[in-house]
Amino acid sequence: VGTMGISDKVPLPTDSEDDSKDEIPVAEKSLLQKIIRKGLVETTKPLDIQRKNPNSPLYSVKTFEALHLKPELLKGVYDMGFNTPSKIQETALPTLLADPPQNMIAQSQSGTGKTAAFVLAMLSRVDVTKNYPQVLCLSPTYELAIQTGEVAAKMSKHCPEIKIKYAVRGEDLQRGTKLSDHIIIGTPGKVLDWAIKFKFFDLKKISVFVLDEADVMIATQGHQDQCIRIHKLLPQNCQMMFFSATYETEVMEFAEIIVSNPIIIKLLKEEESLDNIKQYYVKCKDGDIDDKYQAITNIYGVITIGQAIIFCHTRKTANWLANKMQKDGHTVAILSGDLTVNDRIVVLDRFREGLEKVLITTNVLARGIDVEQVTIVVNFDLPMDQNRKADCETYLHRIGRTGRFGKSGIAINLIDSPHSMQLCREIERHFKKKIHFLNTEDPDEIE
Ligand code: ADP
Repeated sequence: VGTMGISDKVPLPTDSEDDSKDEIPVAEKSLLQKIIRKGLVETTKPLDIQRKNPNSPLYSVKTFEALHLKPELLKGVYDMGFNTPSKIQETALPTLLADPPQNMIAQSQSGTGKTAAFVLAMLSRVDVTKNYPQVLCLSPTYELAIQTGEVAAKMSKHCPEIKIKYAVRGEDLQRGTKLSDHIIIGTPGKVLDWAIKFKFFDLKKISVFVLDEADVMIATQGHQDQCIRIHKLLPQNCQMMFFSATYETEVMEFAEIIVSNPIIIKLLKEEESLDNIKQYYVKCKDGDIDDKYQAITNIYGVITIGQAIIFCHTRKTANWLANKMQKDGHTVAILSGDLTVNDRIVVLDRFREGLEKVLITTNVLARGIDVEQVTIVVNFDLPMDQNRKADCETYLHRIGRTGRFGKSGIAINLIDSPHSMQLCREIERHFKKKIHFLNTEDPDEIE
């Protein structure tokens, strides 16, 4: 995996090898987040519902049966392992499926069930007696469109008559083609080409329009304008659905353009906390990376009871550590800044499936991606900012977990210098939570 220089001694990192400052584009973050997600994010926050038109009725359901879906569709939902609707689905689904159709703007963090909700609405609105595109879903990137399409394919497993087409790069049709698929999922540029330049389908016949990942969409140059151009050509009575993980003014202004008279539902993001996390530090010999390696080996048995992530400050350290562990016969995965998007997907996919129990990475992963299923986090290097002060925010994001329902975890910090001890103390003071000394010669000490 990746390109790793094989050497046993790790030279001191230089700034150029430090990818802690590398930024993953928002679209890719969103994608990686989806790949690593195992299930719904727990939410304890109340749902905030706003209606412009107070006369429009508002329903909520506690079961999927209550939605009166086609039996084949309901079966598809259950086959995916969904037993009950998530918090936003309870309200979003009856609204999205209502007759007459209702417009909706929904905002909630990644993992709360938005995609599943609109895919279900898209599928149940299809009229298979009509052989032309009726449902259009816009996604910001190729990969995100494919992700949505895969959910749709799974959910419609028992509805083989529903046809889905991707309007994304690489999909090219002969001139004069008239699409007979019911659902189009694509990126704005390609959809514009297909609808306007090539007239492969008629936007006037679209009755359901979904704009997904609106916040990611506006982060991409030109996408917002393309979406608006497409939107202008849709019929008046087309049902509009607008989804976003965040809720900035910019996103809401965009939403106002696309969706008239909406029901707006919002779910505040759950805060991360260290409450159920047992934190430790391990003293290693000053500047001795081999001693740190020894510490990892000592705790290996404990950390692989669950799934673990080891954070390193630089790619070089991460690659070195991964190599050494692999040579010693441990199965580890590595995710670092020098991998391609596809490689990252493969690595995270395997990790989510549990094929590797240990993932070694740099800060590339720490920002923006939540790894709720990981029970053990090892800071091979403590996070620090450019001034070499403790980066408490990154620490919390690496270690902290959301949800109160007994999700416990362990954090282990390796200390190899007076400076890293100082960082550790700073973090301890900041969160007012004790970081306990751990003797790795005696890993039974870990509770
Ligand atoms: P979002 O679009 O908000 O990121 P998703 O719809 O992708 O959320 O859902 C997040 C994860 O939860 C996915 O793995 C999905 O399969 C799963 N999921 C969605 N709805 C349900 C449900 N009602 N019950 C169980 N799992 C669900």
